[in-house]
Amino acid sequence: MLDLYAMTEADLKARLAEWGHKPFRAGQVRAWLYDRGATTPDEMTDLPKALRERLAAETRVGSMDVDTEQVSRDGTIKRLYKLHDGQLVESVLMPYQTLRRTACISTQAGCAMGCVFCATGQMGFARHLTADEIVEQAARWSAELRQKGERLSNVVLMGMGEPFHNYDQTLIALRRLMSDLGIGARHITVSTVGLAPRIRQFADEGLQVGLAVSLHASSDEARDALMPVNKRYPIDELIDACREYAQKTGRRITFEWALIRGRNDDEATAERLARVLSGLPCHVNLIPLNPTGGYDGGPSDPDRVARFIDVLARHGIPGTIRVRRGIDIDAGCGQLKSTVQKKTRTP
Ligand code: SAH
Ligand code: SF4
Repeated sequence: MLDLYAMTEADLKARLAEWGHKPFRAGQVRAWLYDRGATTPDEMTDLPKALRERLAAETRVGSMDVDTEQVSRDGTIKRLYKLHDGQLVESVLMPYQTLRRTACISTQAGCAMGCVFCATGQMGFARHLTADEIVEQAARWSAELRQKGERLSNVVLMGMGEPFHNYDQTLIALRRLMSDLGIGARHITVSTVGLAPRIRQFADEGLQVGLAVSLHASSDEARDALMPVNKRYPIDELIDACREYAQKTGRRITFEWALIRGRNDDEATAERLARVLSGLPCHVNLIPLNPTGGYDGGPSDPDRVARFIDVLARHGIPGTIRVRRGIDIDAGCGQLKSTVQKKTRTP
């Protein structure tokens, strides 16, 4: 069956021509999909009946099935999708008091990077997602919001997986989030564990998409222990790539820092971080650690968080605390994993 979300406008035109329909019908179908959030051809009421029937018989909207869904007390929705081959990925929607509606989407089933504090890292790597599978997660949140008269405003690639390990499909997906879903580049953020050569490559793509880099430690010794990727791309090399990115794009980088009680939340660490980042246009996003089953660390106490921010501020580095969302349903940063898949595997 053809997947309408996976077809470009040109693909759709060609197919409709084969079926004996005018090219402008392709634009109509896409307007139904992306502007009005239609999920079945039945809803596309201004199409000729014959075309609606043909679409119903030979196409579907999307390739993934919802496996389970949970809603948090704060309104965050976490959804587990089953892909065509049975792999499971999670996707999160965060509504805010304002008109902001942010989707957090996955780029891989599992992750190969093995960061010790992250549930996705703890489960290991299953496979890369295709660009279609990455985009569909956002397209479906978008469609559901459109049907309620709302709009998906922001997308963050911060779900399961390392986007730059799946670089090519991620880039295709980023472009389609903009062209198909109409999300502005400045409302999209890609988060990377710090694959330095890919950060350099990304600087040359000419996209205005935001970049977030997961740092979490300010010495190689500490970062090695948390993030195996640091052995491959140590802090100096990573920060060099970030400086090049900032210079080329003129954009400020966000550094993510999960605050782990008693491990990376002391003032000396903050001082060292300020030195590492000195002169780099950036912003530090502090995330009190979210609990995961495979790691014994806990979140920093609020007074430690405040002191950490003070130290950065004294050095002119802005730091903000990321508001924790969806913690009661394990939808917070680093908590995504395919529990269901694991459960069915356990005898
Ligand atoms: N693979 C990418 C994007 C997904 S993770 C990356 O690592 O950047 C999104 C963010 O959540 C990253 O900054 C990651 O380090 C952070 N994170 C992972 N586990 C976490 C946890 N248990 N608590 C808080 N943040 C966590
Ligand atoms: Fe992978 Fe990011 Fe989790 Fe590290 S923090 S294991 S890179 S998803």
